[in-house]
Amino acid sequence: MDNDCLFCKIIKGEVPSTKVYEDEFVYGFKDINPAAPIHILVVPKKHIASLAELTDEDEKYVWAIHKAMNKIAEEQGFKENGYRVVINCGKDSGQEVMHLHYHVLAGNKFGDKIV
Ligand code: 5GP
Ligand code: ZN
Repeated sequence: MDNDCLFCKIIKGEVPSTKVYEDEFVYGFKDINPAAPIHILVVPKKHIASLAELTDEDEKYVWAIHKAMNKIAEEQGFKENGYRVVINCGKDSGQEVMHLHYHVLAGNKFGDKIV
């Protein structure tokens, strides 16, 4: 945990959030400024600054996040129609919060494919 980190504060409940999922390793909550009808952030409960900071020890968090996204999609009803997952990593990507987070976007058809 990092005391100055916004997402660590959200995980601890010090900053309010709208929770959509939680387990031992993962916390999922609604993005405050949604970029799609459904926009959920899925984060590891351990403070990992970005994708670039991942170590072998963090393997369990990565797997838990992937499982959680699948579960959230099922629970929230967008698994069948599909969804997009975005991870910003570092300066050029525009990453603003330095706590690894997966953006899960759903609820419309994404026309502007980047890749
Ligand atoms: P990044 O640009 O770092 O990939 O994404 C950060 C995301 O966090 C943005 O989509 C932004 O809307 C979201 N965000 C920033 N502050 C808060 C907050 O206090 N609560 C919630 N729920 N989301 C936040
Ligand atoms: Zn953090």
